[in-house]
This record gives sequence, structure tokens and C-alpha cells, in this order.
Amino acid sequence: MRITALREILIKNLRNLAVYRILSRLLRSVRLWRMNNVLQRIYSTDMPFTGTLHPKLCIDRSVLMNFAIHQLPKFTTVLILVLASGAACAQDSFTDWLEDLRIEAMLSGISDKTVNDAVDRIEFLPDVIERDRSQPEFISPFLDYYQKRVDAKKVQKGRQMLRAHKAMLNQIEALYGVPKYTLVAFWGMETQYGRSQGKLDVLSSLATLAYEGRRTEFFRGQLLDAIRMIDVGHVEAGTLTGSWAGAFGNMQFMPTTFMLYAVDGDDDGKIDVVNSLPDAFASAANYLSQVGWHTHEPAMLEVQLPENFDWENAQLSVRKSIKEWSRFGVRALHVSARGKKSGVSSTEIKKPVAYKAAGGGPFPENISVSTVSLDVLGLKATGPAAILLPQGYRGPAFMVFDNFDVIMDWNRSVNYALSVAQLAEQLRHESRVVGGRFAESGALSFQEMFDLQSMLNALGFYAGQPDGLPGFNTQGAIRKYQLAHQLPADGYAGRSLYERLYSEQLQ
Ligand code: CA
Repeated sequence: MRITALREILIKNLRNLAVYRILSRLLRSVRLWRMNNVLQRIYSTDMPFTGTLHPKLCIDRSVLMNFAIHQLPKFTTVLILVLASGAACAQDSFTDWLEDLRIEAMLSGISDKTVNDAVDRIEFLPDVIERDRSQPEFISPFLDYYQKRVDAKKVQKGRQMLRAHKAMLNQIEALYGVPKYTLVAFWGMETQYGRSQGKLDVLSSLATLAYEGRRTEFFRGQLLDAIRMIDVGHVEAGTLTGSWAGAFGNMQFMPTTFMLYAVDGDDDGKIDVVNSLPDAFASAANYLSQVGWHTHEPAMLEVQLPENFDWENAQLSVRKSIKEWSRFGVRALHVSARGKKSGVSSTEIKKPVAYKAAGGGPFPENISVSTVSLDVLGLKATGPAAILLPQGYRGPAFMVFDNFDVIMDWNRSVNYALSVAQLAEQLRHESRVVGGRFAESGALSFQEMFDLQSMLNALGFYAGQPDGLPGFNTQGAIRKYQLAHQLPADGYAGRSLYERLYSEQLQ
């Protein structure tokens, strides 16, 4: 019996995914076993069946082609075989993979018509794999990242948008308890206020990443949710475009986020996060509120740390009450428009000495900066707060609250989360990042970061498997190294540390 016929019987008779998967694997083995047998018959070579095509034939297709060229009479047969097997060695061909997906999607309860419409239009996109594999050339230091993404133009445009959509945004803020400034800040960071939502076919991007990417299970799940999204009628397969990673719409939701949190903001019976702003904003607000946004609480505050601050305390996992940080001498940085009342009693304000605008320049003429006691700000926060130094102890310092964790749920990058929170502040009132005049500058390349991790490991400060990205393990290892060498233990993977480790290694 033909294997395709067997498959069809399976689809018709089995509505159980686990059983399907077992039988599907069995069928694949049968198919490979058959191919193996054919090869064996052609060449009368010893090729014991091991569950996949014989490794000799799997290593490299060019080896097989060479083999074929030297056996000219049998060339056609081998060519057909090679074409038929596709990339069947390590895994199924993309076409086979899609057929499995089609069956899995049908068995999971999505209608056959939706599944067929969606799967039939999927194409493999080699560019997507290239994007997924291309590593960032440089790891941006916070101020570089922030200044590039939160500039005067973005703030101005955001304020315009707040005015243009005032009634709708106020309504959504009242309903979900998430400030309109935060929602518009996400909008600006994600798609330049809706202007760049992505032009790639979402189904094809996700299928490509699920087939060949680094996180196949994750993207397969996203792809199935994308097909579900189409099945429930909110999205049409033909118009679903987005980023290379499969995020789409004004807020760049992934399909799973859409399925869990998207809502119909304008009550027209359809959830359209691409063309309907009420739907996009209500969905974003619903998501943030569901993952724990605390109404009327801050996400982040720029602070000034005392000179004797214990740098080890500056990390996301070290949490203390605002009162406690205040006792340690942490003060809020206060930016106000010159000549305007700041709302804080003048006896509480101290002019800072060491601060100038981030990046080293003077402050603009129209603002004045001072520090103020945390106790008089009347900050309300449910949980304890943490101090973050995204660019080391000489860079700007931030106090972050529970709502910052909510932003991190949206995107795990500290630079991203601080930039969203800061953009929201700037949309609300005169504000900017002002600390960090003496911040260590100069980006490390991806390769240098990788080397830095390897050097820490070699010196006995385990930073985890080197991956070129300065995560929590790397920061922890750096802190241990810094403590062992009486350096400020800020955990920052900067150029000075890289050069120090490099020269240490040469000795
Ligand atoms: Ca709608």
C-alpha cells in the first residue's frame, strides 16, 4: 500500500495526536527502510538499516552525487532517489514536514479547510533563517541603545498620537488600568506608531523557523496558533504579514500572545490588531494587565546612588522596600522644565554635583536637574524594588518596580524594558535619562563578548556556556571576578573588563 494512502487512512480514522505521532514515525521509518533497500539492491553494498538513511548517504549530498557520477549507467536512478529523498537524512524534507504539520493541525481540532488553505500557501524563506542566524555585530551599551530608539522625534510623534487618539486611549486606560503613555510607548518602540508592522508572510516565516531554526518547538507552537487564529476568523491567511520572527500588527504580537490575550476593542465582533487601533491597544492593555500590571504604580525611576553604595546590590534579583533603599542614601533624580513648579517642595531638592546629561554633554537649557528624597515622592509599589545599572557603576542608575517585570515579560531585554519605561515617562512629562556622564562607552562585539565569557571560565569564574550575550550568569561571574580583585562589583561586561581579562590571560 502506498504511504500517502496510509496517511489518509490515519487522518480519517485517528483523532488522537499521540497515536498519530507514533504511527507517523513508523511510516517514516518504513519509507527510509524502503529507500535503503533500493540503494542496497542497486549497489549490492552492505547497508544495514539503522532507522534513517544509511549515514554514508546522509553525510553529504555531494558525496552521493559523486558516487552517482562514477556509476554513470545508474546515474538516473540515483538522481531520482536523491531528489525523492530530499533532505530526508537528518530530518524530513520541508514538504514532508509540512504534511506532518497539516495532519497535526487537523488532529488538534482546526478545520480541514483552514489547515489546507494555510499550509498550501506556506513557502520556505531562506532569508528568515539568515536573519535568525545572524548575530548582532555589537552588543549595544544601554545609552547607545536608548538614544537610538528614544529620540526627540519619537517623543514628539508619540505626543501627537496621544492627542489624536485621546478619547480611545483614556477609555482603554480606565478599563484595564494600564497608562496610555505606556501603551503608546510600546507602540512607538514596536512599530514606529504602526508604520512598520512587517511585510513578510507570517505563516511562511514561522514554518521556516519551526523547520530549521534554533527553537523549532517554540515556532511550531506559534505556527499552530497562527493557523488557529485564522480558523477562529480574526485574521485572513492571505493578508497576515509581519516581522521575520512572526510578530505582527501594531503591537507586534506573536500568534500565541494573540490567542491568549487579544480582545475586540471596538466591539465589531472581530479582533484586528493590524487595522483597528482600539483592538491593538485593548489587546496590549489586556495582556499587560493579565501578566500583572499594577495600576497607579511606577515601572522605573532614575536614581542617584550614594558614593559608598554596595554595587552588588544593583541587580534585578536583589529587592528591597523603597524605604530601605532610601535609608541607604538612594535618591530620585528629578527633572523639571526650568521656571515651572516641580511639584516637589524646594527644601527636599538638592542640586546634584556629578550629573550632566547622559553621554557627557550639558543639559538642554530648558530643563533643570536635581535630586530628591524617595520618601517625599509618595511612590506606591506593591512589591519591593531593585536597582539596575545597565551600563555599569559609572552609567545611569534606575530603580525598577513590579511593573518593570511586566514589561520584561513582553521582551526579556533590560535595554528594551528601560527604553519603553523611559519613553512612557517622556510622553507623560518632561523627563529624560540624565545620569551616566561618566559611563563607560564602547560596545563589545559579539565575538569579544564570547571571548570574555570564555576567559572568565578559564580563570575559574564560571559564566556558563559562552554564547556572546551578557546574561545573568555572565553578570554573576563578573561580579565574582570583580570582588576577587577589589573592583566595583557591578557585573558590567564592558571594554575595560574585557581588556583587563585579555592582558591577564597573556601573562
Ligand atoms: Ca474589532
